[in-house]
Amino acid sequence: MEKYQHYINGKWTDGSSKETISVVNPANGKDIGQVVCAKSDDVNAAVEAALNSYKSRVLVDMLPMERAKLMRSIANELRAVSKEGGKLLCHENGKLLANAEYEFVDGANYFDYYSGMTDKLEGNTIPVNNKVVDYTLLEPYGVSGHIIPWNFPISMLARSLACAFAAGNSTVIKTAELTPLATASFFAKAIDNAGVPPGLINVICGHGNEAGANLTAHKDVAQITFTGSVATGKTILHAAADRAVPAVVELGGKSAAIVYPDADLDKVVTSAKAGIFGQAGQICSAMSRVVAHKSIKNELVEKLANLASTIKVGPGDVEGSELTPVISEEQVQKVENYSRSGQQAGAEAVAGGKRVEGDGYFFEATVFDNVKPDMTIAQEEIFGPVLSVLEYDEPEEAIEIANGTEFGLAGGVFTRDLDKATETAGKLEAGQIYVNSWFTGSVATPFGGYKQSGYSREKGQEAIKSYLQVKNVGIQL
Ligand code: ADP
Repeated sequence: MEKYQHYINGKWTDGSSKETISVVNPANGKDIGQVVCAKSDDVNAAVEAALNSYKSRVLVDMLPMERAKLMRSIANELRAVSKEGGKLLCHENGKLLANAEYEFVDGANYFDYYSGMTDKLEGNTIPVNNKVVDYTLLEPYGVSGHIIPWNFPISMLARSLACAFAAGNSTVIKTAELTPLATASFFAKAIDNAGVPPGLINVICGHGNEAGANLTAHKDVAQITFTGSVATGKTILHAAADRAVPAVVELGGKSAAIVYPDADLDKVVTSAKAGIFGQAGQICSAMSRVVAHKSIKNELVEKLANLASTIKVGPGDVEGSELTPVISEEQVQKVENYSRSGQQAGAEAVAGGKRVEGDGYFFEATVFDNVKPDMTIAQEEIFGPVLSVLEYDEPEEAIEIANGTEFGLAGGVFTRDLDKATETAGKLEAGQIYVNSWFTGSVATPFGGYKQSGYSREKGQEAIKSYLQVKNVGIQL
């Protein structure tokens, strides 16, 4: 079985330890590869390589146009490995093959997009008095540490890395232990093939509570970016606070779509297909709740149940599969427990509700009717293909239910009335609002959470601010 390595200082290496982590295909539970496991020495080596490259100013002093060209080369190399890399990603993550391949294309899009910002990192001149010239410079932090989740290993990594790189930072990436393979091999290969100077981008593999914690605690890591669960996000924020360094955190969600009586219900169904059953519901901004007006709720539930019970369950690399497995045995059990808790609390599973028998970690596409706002399945992030439908009568009640969780990542409105849509979009406490659809964003649209869903923004021009610090220069004439 192939062994996958760290990529440190422009070289693939086993690192200091013989310990490896087995990576499993969630569609059948079988081992597909071993990855080396970083210890503190390896984290130190990766940070040292990043710091040395930063101090050498190879990226900082590169002409903005040259930095942009290098980023576009990375984008081209990512596209070139999208087929092969996508296959490996499909096997380690379980997602649809087409979506796995697309992650590399999406990654390329981030590099292309942020390449356009390298020559637009402009400061200001500030009037002080006629004997002082005062201006600001936007400068990178130095070594930026990126902790990557397992649900979109390539997309999420490219999202923060391209931005950090455009700003001139050197980076150390800690892959997720459940899905390190495509990153350690194909992604790192794309970086290498593009001719990125050694040390600017380093990839290490290992456990979160060891390699991840060592990275966030490292004295030379000047900025941290994390995507993952709220609990781990808080641990990372504490680690950042201990050293007073900034952190970008994109955390969980329990996002609600409000469906008004005049809505096109088929649009809600299409959105649910991608929004909660796509990627088996393991998306932080998943459409995990529907808040439907009582006049149309039964009709909508029937349509949603029909979608869920006809969706084709199967491995990501089998033609025609629509619902793929969740990531692990632990995760499928977690989803099962949530499903049980919903039924015990009085919600009705009108479709699905249990684990699919047989190999792998599949869970049925599940729709719960008669969910009440205080039930656990209406409050907690399940991270599985489980949709909770809640009913409302007055519009204020819908907003109250939608805003009534600790999260605030995304929200949706389904209506034909533009006034109602914009008014509701204004009242929802969430970082992104979708109207008559779900996932309308692109690499150019800012993304992030309100409340416990995190802070700072990823994507778009907004995100680059997190990777730059402002220096003020005053010249006495
Ligand atoms: P999960 O959804 O499996 O709970 P996490 O949010 O814990 O995922 O993990 C997301 C990423 O954070 C992974 O790369 C994981 O290795 C990393 N991680 C987990 N715990 C820590 C920690 N204490 N410090 C730094 N990184 C961590």
